[in-house]
Amino acid sequence: MSYDVPTILNMNCIHCNASNKDNWFYCKTCGKRASAPLFTTNMFMMSEQGKRSDIEFNTISLDDHVASEVAQRETKQKNFWKEKVNAIR
Ligand SMILES: [Zn+2]
Repeated sequence: MSYDVPTILNMNCIHCNASNKDNWFYCKTCGKRASAPLFTTNMFMMSEQGKRSDIEFNTISLDDHVASEVAQRETKQKNFWKEKVNAIR
């Protein structure tokens, strides 16, 4: 993915070119959307939130997740039969 860095750093409205330093979704001067949709998506991918969801997704691998689920189920089943046996005695 390639993008024009000066364009991303330019927070001005795409309609009236008014300064939009606080990066409002709607321009305070002309009331239109201050940025194009693609621009907004790029900003999200560069933001901390975009990075964080990426990290969260990779923290636990699918194999690890399945292994822990199986171990949990086996423990539950063993306890279930242990209780049944104790109830009979
Ligand atoms: Zn504007």
